[in-house]
Amino acid sequence: MPEGDTVWNTARVLHRALAGARLTGSDFRVPQLATTDLTGWTVRESASRGKRLLLRLTGPADEDRTLHSHLRMDGAWRAYAPGERWSARPAHLIRVVLRSAGAAAVGYHLHELALIPTAEEESLVGHLGPDLLGPDWDPAEAVRRLAAHPEQSIGEALLDQRNLAGVGNLYKCEVLFLRGVSPWTPVRDVPDLAGTVALAQRLLAANRGRWTQSTTGVLRRGGTSYVYGRRAQPCRRCGTAIRKEELGERVTYWCPVCQPERT
Ligand SMILES: [Zn+2]
Repeated sequence: MPEGDTVWNTARVLHRALAGARLTGSDFRVPQLATTDLTGWTVRESASRGKRLLLRLTGPADEDRTLHSHLRMDGAWRAYAPGERWSARPAHLIRVVLRSAGAAAVGYHLHELALIPTAEEESLVGHLGPDLLGPDWDPAEAVRRLAAHPEQSIGEALLDQRNLAGVGNLYKCEVLFLRGVSPWTPVRDVPDLAGTVALAQRLLAANRGRWTQSTTGVLRRGGTSYVYGRRAQPCRRCGTAIRKEELGERVTYWCPVCQPERT
């Protein structure tokens, strides 16, 4: 699932494949960019912001543009070597192809694909809270934004990218388990918001540079999480069956014993 660490990894893969390269072709398969041709453009860098990917390019007339894409739940970018089969996803999911002499970058099921002047990036990402894996990560600002909505459940607040950018459902469930906090707890009743935010950052940072997302330190299949995806399986701490229920627009996993509701 694309969360902040996955998008960070994706940005690095694209950066290694394309940075400094002149594009030899482009193929946009979305209506709003169908006539766009980036042939001859140079890729300066690729960066992530929460679940969004920012590919920064310079045009033949020295114009700076950013290709913005949002990975949401199902988007992905892959870099392929010349001649390699594009096997990651079905071809009908392809939204854009960028080619250089050394690589083809293929974007699957991307959302909010847009090409904008780099100076205007903030118009698309400026509303986001501090990026957990960004160079400008600001935990105090993330806590301030969370605390500004004291009645909201912490489970929903951690997913709201306007509070902090990069936590998806997996990390939300795992952080709250490790803190012993029920996902339904109102933000104002969370004992240590700063500690919660700091833990989320550490968990994401620990998974940079690998594609297996683990919060337990175990990379073997079936061992990578405490509660996420483990409905009805025994809690790794107390043995109680892990529960799964809807919370807002998403499902949440938790241990009713390790994460008691505060009354
Ligand atoms: Zn438990």
